Amino acid sequence: MKKKLVFIIIDGMADVKIKALGGKTPLEFAETSGMDLLARHGLSSKIYTVNKGFMPESDVANLCLLGYDLKNHEGRASFEARGMGVRLKKNQVAFRANFVKLNEKQEIENVRGYRLPTTLNKRLCKKLSMRIQGVKIQVIPGESYRALVILTGKHLSANVTNTHPFYKKVRGTRYSMAMPSKKHCRINLCEALSPDAVLTAYVINQFTEKSNKILKELNNPVVNAIVLRDASKQDKIPVLFSKKYGLRMLTITERFLEKGLSKFLGIKTLDSLKTKARTLESDCKRKLRFFFKNYNKYDGFYIFLKGPDEPSHDKNPSLKARMIEIIDENLVLPLIEKLSKKGLLKNTIICVTTDHTTSSVIGAHTDAPVPVVVFDGKHDDNVKAFNETACKKGKLPVKFGKELMPYLVKIMNEK
Ligand SMILES: [Zn+2]
Repeated sequence: MKKKLVFIIIDGMADVKIKALGGKTPLEFAETSGMDLLARHGLSSKIYTVNKGFMPESDVANLCLLGYDLKNHEGRASFEARGMGVRLKKNQVAFRANFVKLNEKQEIENVRGYRLPTTLNKRLCKKLSMRIQGVKIQVIPGESYRALVILTGKHLSANVTNTHPFYKKVRGTRYSMAMPSKKHCRINLCEALSPDAVLTAYVINQFTEKSNKILKELNNPVVNAIVLRDASKQDKIPVLFSKKYGLRMLTITERFLEKGLSKFLGIKTLDSLKTKARTLESDCKRKLRFFFKNYNKYDGFYIFLKGPDEPSHDKNPSLKARMIEIIDENLVLPLIEKLSKKGLLKNTIICVTTDHTTSSVIGAHTDAPVPVVVFDGKHDDNVKAFNETACKKGKLPVKFGKELMPYLVKIMNEK
């Protein structure tokens, strides 16, 4: 019988060593008996989720971790739109947007709008719908400071640069790379990267100017501007995940990006999982519930958890360590215990990893490789704990994110 797969990705969990944590990383500092148990009885490694020298965002990293090449990247805004249930039409281009706070010199003071409440986000989005040069612009609220801007009209192109100054669009691709966050950064002008994108760039610059005037006049203490990035159109999907890997997979997350990415790859998502849970603890518990409820219906489960990434951006490694503990205590450990109690552990492969390193020292993603563990009840190595240091010595034969899914599928089929 084919084994089942639980593939758990925890957002931005890897980190660097922190003085205030006694020279340990938050993952080393945290009490993680569940993940350590997997490491003790499984195979571990450190992997580059995308590539050496690449500072991944969640979109590129999760695409690679699901076993796809970057050339399949459709664009972050498209993924998020799909996650929100929005199918873009041929004459539409979407942008991922952030509400931000600028200081008096028009420099970015807080790039996440001090994590404004979603209710305020919804109110702001309503005020920013407009029409410029015959192009209709809609602003759709996301969680907290996030939104989606959709342009509808003739002759639009996704081949434009970001106004978000911290992300640079990689030429000839659909994705952006984070720039080292500098102080005194202003909003960038949107530039056309090809002649057919001139109108789109013009409309975006007009929209930015008008929106920022409207937002400024509201005098809100946490946000007064909007920045855009990752313009994208929706394409044909690549080879479906089920075809590529012969797996019926279910994605368990409420996050628009990973949900949309799953839809793009033809992976089933849980439509009932829509909103952010009240606490990380209750989020872990509901995801575990959904997993067991669907255990018999699918071959694999892709569980994505947000949590540790945010405190690292806010340079709060102690909170990050605590969040990792909550995930271990309420998801990983009970998962192992329940599978074992039901006699299902021997038929289940558990893989835990993270999409990227987020340094709590600089408050940004880095290119450092991340720890990964694969437990299948058969193979093990000498690694005794799950963290950035211990997993280095592991024997898991995987070095890059893209190799992980083919490896997991191979061992699922092993007798
Ligand atoms: Zn992040």
